[in-house]
Amino acid sequence: MLEVGGLEVRYGGITAVREVSLQVEEGEVVALLGPNGAGKSSTLGAIMGLVRPTCGQIRFRGADISRLHTEQIVRMGIALTPEGRRILTQLTVRENLTLAAAGRRRRGDVQADLETILDRFPIVRERLDSPAGTLSGGQAQQLAIARSLMSAPQLLLLDEPTLGLAPLIVDLIFDTIAELRNNGLTVLVVEQNAMRALEIADRAYVMRTGSIVAAGTSDELGGGAGLASAYLGKSASA
Ligand code: ATP
Repeated sequence: MLEVGGLEVRYGGITAVREVSLQVEEGEVVALLGPNGAGKSSTLGAIMGLVRPTCGQIRFRGADISRLHTEQIVRMGIALTPEGRRILTQLTVRENLTLAAAGRRRRGDVQADLETILDRFPIVRERLDSPAGTLSGGQAQQLAIARSLMSAPQLLLLDEPTLGLAPLIVDLIFDTIAELRNNGLTVLVVEQNAMRALEIADRAYVMRTGSIVAAGTSDELGGGAGLASAYLGKSASA
């Protein structure tokens, strides 16, 4: 479904992503793991058309999307739930959701999709007419995912969806990702919580200083312990 090849992203003199190649098959949950500053968000940003790659190809269902604008990429079926959620705090929860559907071609489906999404996130339904700025961190994260679903994506990119959340909410978010996959959504998730991400992901890639240093299933990566050594640089072959 998604094929990234030889991706490079530079910010001025800094090369944030170099020679990154990864694939996501339809129906998979794939985790992109790695420490701060490894280039994970920049990789998602490039897929989403938010940052221009200096090199490489990005193909979605066979089509080259590396030069498209973000709105076109969203219309093709990719959505991003960004790190830090970036919900519009002055607007109500409902307004956040309806605005996210603004670019859709088939307007008629919006209300039906909203209902389905609200069934999945009952707390979002409960807070529908509250200002989004009054939500707790866990509620805001659920709204951020719900908002991404409003563009009816086939591929969802999630950037650090559990960062800073209480353990029970972390469980809820991982359960949600697994359920979304069971309902046919394909997911590429950036996570610092490698252990938990590996529990739900079919496969993972590990990034460090802009490059992919390991890839495989949880077993192939040696589980959490294998990943820890990859993070620490003790296992270059991991
Ligand atoms: P984090 O989890 O901290 O977001 P990350 O793995 O997602 O880390 P990126 O955010 O992609 O990493 O950052 C990769 C590198 O690019 C870092 O060195 C970062 O400082 C740099 N960088 C990211 N965005 C910019 C920018 N807009 N301008 C300049 N440098 C940037």
